[in-house]
Amino acid sequence: MTGEVEVILVGDELLKGDRRDAHLQFIGALVRTIGARITQAHMVPDNRAVIAATVKARIRKDRAIVVSGGLGPTHDDITREAVADGIGVSLEFREDQWKWIVGVFKGFSKTPHESNKRQAYFPAGSDVIPNDHGTAPGFMVEKGGCLIAVLPGPPRELRPMMESAVLDRLKSMFGREPLFAETYRTTGIGESDMTPKVELLFGHFEKEFTISSLPHIGGVDVVLTARARGDMKKQKKRAGEFEDGLREILGTHVFGTGTRDFPAVIGDLLAKRGETLAVAESLTGGLIGKSLTDAPGSSDYLLADVVAYSNESKVEFLGVKKKSLKDHGAVSDVVCREMAAGIRARTGATYGISTTGIAGPDGGTKDKPVGLTYFGLASDDGEKIMHRVFPGDRTTVRERVAYAVLNLLYRKLTR
Ligand code: ATP
Repeated sequence: MTGEVEVILVGDELLKGDRRDAHLQFIGALVRTIGARITQAHMVPDNRAVIAATVKARIRKDRAIVVSGGLGPTHDDITREAVADGIGVSLEFREDQWKWIVGVFKGFSKTPHESNKRQAYFPAGSDVIPNDHGTAPGFMVEKGGCLIAVLPGPPRELRPMMESAVLDRLKSMFGREPLFAETYRTTGIGESDMTPKVELLFGHFEKEFTISSLPHIGGVDVVLTARARGDMKKQKKRAGEFEDGLREILGTHVFGTGTRDFPAVIGDLLAKRGETLAVAESLTGGLIGKSLTDAPGSSDYLLADVVAYSNESKVEFLGVKKKSLKDHGAVSDVVCREMAAGIRARTGATYGISTTGIAGPDGGTKDKPVGLTYFGLASDDGEKIMHRVFPGDRTTVRERVAYAVLNLLYRKLTR
């Protein structure tokens, strides 16, 4: 039997679409490491009766329910009351927890409000989950052989609490060693192009592993999970054979395993080759530099990232010609080329990459629609400039072009 976890996400802002849920994927990946899985998720409003009814309805022996959000001090934070209703117990004041909350406020030279006192109430029989990043402790409580873990909404608070206290409890509840699992990360290929190529390979391994394809912004993650606990060494060996097969079919589309990030992989390649990179960004506004510098040690290969947003800055910092801007506009093959070549020449880097485009939602014309982007690579071999019209909102367009230009460089480095 696989450990069964359900998630109840509380928050009007999630249902209204004002905030994108950040917990489900995290919790899913975390519980998978102990061979458990999320079997259902529920998104509910900040409504005491609805939360209580949802909790009550989902209680089942040997199941764990993770509830997130609504543990704060404000009037719409009613999760603690609702969970107590759902399991049929009352709330109890915990003096030790109140002292702890007062202490946290003191640390900031503040005094808690009377409303913060609510955060020291817990359903009878709860174990408190300490919160090192906020003032709302979480709690775990059992009902009918079901574990209910209740955590605050902010990801930076929920995640460490999930990783420590809740995961430990789940481990002892489900009594599990991890199932063998591995992720193979690919780039530059969509799911529909990949599927027919890998069908046969997947078929050979499907008896031992579940294989899922999870698309991400620039490719697909292929996740292999053992169907049953077994000889880990043997499973690892079989997974190695799967990886060999995948690499044989997809070549350098496979850029790494596990949680390895694409920019970090590019960084490794540059470092290994003793080469350097400089970036000229317009519409991506620093996104590429940020993703590259997230990897420790990036100063070994990243020389500069210039965000040249205005025409004047493109001229001054990158050496783009005024005439090119006048004749072709900033969103053009010519300007993108001069940006990549310019940053490369000015920094002496092995490679220069550049982006320019219209991220929207305004600024599009018939000739240059929203989503039109140019991205380029300059090297000893000259410049290679590509253009695409990417669908999606402003954030998506920027993320896509950032990924696309890195992919252009990746192809050059792995050719
Ligand atoms: P706080 O003590 O900060 O008030 P809380 O437990 O009361 O925490 P909420 O008030 O529900 O939590 O939410 C706090 C913040 O966390 C809000 O910005 C909210 O949008 C965010 N948040 C809540 N649930 C999620 C979620 N599923 N994914 C991402 N963010 C979330």
